[in-house]
Order: sequence, then C-alpha cells, then structure tokens
Amino acid sequence: MEKETGQNSIRSKQFNRGLIFQMIATGSCRTRIELARQTGLAKTTVGNIITEFMDKNVVEECEEEQTQVCGRNPILLKVSAKAPKIIGLLILRSRVEAVLCSMTMEILRTEQIRFPGRLTGELLIQYACEAVARIYRQETNVTGIGVSAIGPVDIKNGVILNPPRFHGVNHVRIVEALREQFPLPVYMEHDNSCAALAEKLFGVGKAEEDFLFLGISDGIGSGLISGGKLFRNSRGLATELGHVSIHCQGPPCSCGNQGCLEMYASTGLILDKLRTATGLELSYEEYFRLPDCRAAREILEEMIQHIAAALVSVINMLHPELLVLGHDCMDWDDASVALLEQIVNEKRIAQDGRRIPVKKAYFGRQSQLVGAAAIVVSRIFSGELQL
Ligand SMILES: [Zn+2]
Repeated sequence: MEKETGQNSIRSKQFNRGLIFQMIATGSCRTRIELARQTGLAKTTVGNIITEFMDKNVVEECEEEQTQVCGRNPILLKVSAKAPKIIGLLILRSRVEAVLCSMTMEILRTEQIRFPGRLTGELLIQYACEAVARIYRQETNVTGIGVSAIGPVDIKNGVILNPPRFHGVNHVRIVEALREQFPLPVYMEHDNSCAALAEKLFGVGKAEEDFLFLGISDGIGSGLISGGKLFRNSRGLATELGHVSIHCQGPPCSCGNQGCLEMYASTGLILDKLRTATGLELSYEEYFRLPDCRAAREILEEMIQHIAAALVSVINMLHPELLVLGHDCMDWDDASVALLEQIVNEKRIAQDGRRIPVKKAYFGRQSQLVGAAAIVVSRIFSGELQL
C-alpha cells in the first residue's frame, strides 16, 4: 500500500512538472505566481519545479516587463534556448521529411529525401533513418523522435499498415527500426492526427476542446481532438474523413467502399476537371483566384458542397466546435472558406445559436511535419516523458 502511494506521488509530481512546462512553452502562463494560481499548486512547489527546470537549462528567466506602477514586477519565464530539441519525421507517399524543432515548435532545420523510384519496406526504413541521422549528426541535444505517417497505422506497435497507393509497401515496423538506430524514445501517430495535435497545442485550436482537422490533397485525411485530447480508438486507429461516403452508389474507392469523399474532392481529381472545363493549365491555387471564370467557380463550389456533405455527417455525430483546414486548403480563397462555413452551419442538426468557425491551419502546409514533433512535446506535457 505504501509503495503504491509512493508511486502515485511520483506520478503526480511528473504530471505537475509536465503541466507547468506546458503552460510556459505554450505561453499561456509565464510567471511563478500565475502558475501557482492557475494550477492550484503551492507557490513553493511551483518554485521548486522552476528551479529544477532552470538547473537543467530547460527554462530561463527573461527581461522583466514593466507592468506594475509600483512594487516588483514578476519575472517572466520562457523555454531556454539551451533546452533539448525534438526530431520529427514525416513519411509521405513520395518522400520522407525530417525536422528539428524547438520545444515551442519553431522549425530549426529540415531534411528531405525523395524516393528515387522503386520502394520497399527496407528502403523506406533506410531513407527514414538517413533523414533523421542528417539532423542528429548536427544536433545531439534531442529528447525524442516523433513519426507522422500516412495511414492506416498501428500506433501501439509502431507499424505502418497498408496505405493505399504506397508502392505496394506495407507492414513496416518503423518505430522499432528507429529505436535500434537512435538512443531516443520514438513515438508515432497518423499524419493528420499529428496536424490536429500541433494545432491543439500551439495553433488555431489552442482554446478548443473539440475540433476536427481536415487535410485535402491527393488523399483526404482528418484528425480529431475530442475532450482536449487526440482521438484514436483503443487499437490506435484514427479518423478517416476521406472515406466517409457521400453517395452509396458512387464510384468505387480503393478502400472497398463507394462514393467516398476522396472520389469527389481530392486535389488531382479537381485539377483534372478544372483543366478540362477551362482549357487552362493553372495550379490549384490559381483557379481559386481566377476572376469571372464561371466554369472554374462552378467546379470549386460543387467540390465545397461535397466536402460539406461529408463534414455535416461527422459534425452531427461528434459536434466539434471548430473546423481546421490544412494541406492544399491553404490555397483556398477567403470566399471558399466562408462558403464551406456557411453550408455546414446551415445543414448541421444542432441549431444552438453557435456557429462552427472554419479556419486555416496555423502551421499551414507544415502542420503534419511540425505535428511529428508535437507528438513528443505532448508526451512531455502529459508527464509521460521527463525532461
Ligand atoms: Zn474510400
């Protein structure tokens, strides 16, 4: 019994340290007194944790801000420039990208390796390890590696399962391979879950407990934050908005279903339609900025209607309070974002007087990559990984 109490006290100490570090790193609270007030912890407890962080070069004091007319100004705290860094690894269909991030998700360096052609599981592991090694050779003050991978993934066992259109590569034990090569903890999540996590901890979703991230490219993916936490089922499977059907007799999808959203709104497919209808060879972004081109506008509006149809089904089930758009949606014009917001709010069932805003991702096209690093920082915030 006594032993158990001891372990509980260690766990609660780790939790408190993580929570205080989170408040400082995300900028939500930056003085000792405010940290004590917001966490309900004793001032001495907060003081001891900060002293420990300062001794380890994780947190530092910065210039006093003149906010009080008289009396001493509280000393502001921030993450130290000497604090350990995080390596994120993004695995996509055509390439791997590695990033060195600070604890506040500032991008310090990136490396990219494109797959030259044929790909096998062994080659994928080789490219992934090389991309991480290029960063680790220059910076060894690293606390962990986060892997953001196209799905489906088994996050419990660190395996990339069977992503469609992935050169026939499947069941790659990527986490185990990285652990063998680098003396660091390694974690993995689905790429769009990573994006949602980055937006929750540091981006547009910071203040929200429930929101959905939607990433549109040649595939369509999603990530869900529910009750302030990243959602995945007990086996680690994530949400797949791209495979929500909007037409049960629609075109067959590679997943086995028919009429999936991906068959109506993925970037490549929309680009083909736009080029055929207009006779112009423009980029996705340029079509959103074509003044007075009715043919292009009709195709884009129909695409938005299709996306809204899938979103409304999900909104009616899960009631997120915010929708975050990422990937190629960063190219959308403001009118398109506003149109999507208008349709989903008109069609969703709960007319509670609240409007679900639709916003572009704070980390833009980097949200999946930064999200890889966000997995590691989220483990520090939760107290699972100690600094
Ligand atoms: Zn499908």
